[in-house]
Amino acid sequence: MRKTVRVVRTVVVRSVRLPRKVFRVFVELEGMYRNMVEQLVLYAVSNGIKSFAKLKALKYREMRSLYQQLPSHYVYTACQDASTRAKSFLRLKRLGLAERNYPVVRRVSIWLDDHLWKPNGLTSIKVVTHRGWVTLGFEPHKQYWRYVNRGWRLASEVKVRLDKRSRMLIFHLVFVKEVEEFKPRGHLPVDINENNITILIDGVAYLFETDTEKLVLGYYYRRKRIQERYDEFYGKKSRVKRKVMRKLKEGEKKQDIKWKVANLIVRIAYEKQYAIVLERLGRKPVSNMIKRVKDRQLRHRIFQASFRGIQRAIEEKAREYGVPIIRVNPKNTSKMCPIHNAPITYSNGSRIGKCIRSGELWHRDVVACWNLLLKALRGDGSYAPSSVGLDVDVTRVPFGSNATHDPIRIPKSLWARWKSLPQTQFVIILN
Ligand SMILES: [Zn+2]
Repeated sequence: MRKTVRVVRTVVVRSVRLPRKVFRVFVELEGMYRNMVEQLVLYAVSNGIKSFAKLKALKYREMRSLYQQLPSHYVYTACQDASTRAKSFLRLKRLGLAERNYPVVRRVSIWLDDHLWKPNGLTSIKVVTHRGWVTLGFEPHKQYWRYVNRGWRLASEVKVRLDKRSRMLIFHLVFVKEVEEFKPRGHLPVDINENNITILIDGVAYLFETDTEKLVLGYYYRRKRIQERYDEFYGKKSRVKRKVMRKLKEGEKKQDIKWKVANLIVRIAYEKQYAIVLERLGRKPVSNMIKRVKDRQLRHRIFQASFRGIQRAIEEKAREYGVPIIRVNPKNTSKMCPIHNAPITYSNGSRIGKCIRSGELWHRDVVACWNLLLKALRGDGSYAPSSVGLDVDVTRVPFGSNATHDPIRIPKSLWARWKSLPQTQFVIILN
């Protein structure tokens, strides 16, 4: 009884530039759709309705007679759209965060269900409008073909937005894939830290340098500086500022290392058919790296966010590849010697500690990995240990060979270009 997960991804494609006449049909369609959504949201909010079924039951007839020229399923999707908006507005209002007393419908995407569109080959779709079916070609890109060629299928829901300046439609296509988790043949513990991510493969620790700390904080302060400058010149709510901030955010996203590292780790696990072992989400003790800062709380919060971001990225990628994830209790993972079950002491700020029982040296992040592995094997996680069918003899941990306190260090400039782990020998030579 292996677990099957449904993985969902949205892919954005643009239509070709449409002739004026065809585009006008969609402008009309959008206008009617917007009117419907506006009326429905107002009604839903003033009557406290959050459910699609209820809204549809109460308003279908009326909307249908108002917009007879539209295919009937637009009323369905407008009700879905409106109930989603009403729900989030009512939540904001409850929290006292709504800007106004009534919801405003600004940006509109037309929601389509399986009655309103169908695929037409691989590079165009058909959409039914008040003027009948319209065939729309789009420009497929690399990402689109990747999903098509790797066995993903298109889900029935599509959203369409109009780009009036370029007379194009922007489709948000949804791809789904059912992925079966494989039965793990071993474990790959992953320890996430401020400046590195350390993993343990078959007894060898690899430390990927990330500089998350520098990167994340750098972004934060830069953003704040720009924000202040724009507030000063243009006022707090200026359009210019919003635009600049959006650009900034996009740029930051592109540089985001979390997807690169998640990809790398998940591919290694997939090739080896190992389960990934992660710390269960929760508080992670802040290490002494953070001491230097004035605003400790802020810093802590920022690191927490990026830590969770990396975990989520790994989890999301793992689902896509069917890699099982085992979450274990993070308590004391770097404090206890995994061989002697005795405390490890670290002298001021050092990442190398000493086992008080036997005196051997340990690298903090390597210890964490070994303890994550042992916890997973002992069943201190969400996965039954018996399903793995192997046991680790901890006394075989090769601490004579420096492996305990000397992980293989890989700079970001190197691993960021990797798709998977190269031959081990190769890495060691580089090291
Ligand atoms: Zn020890």
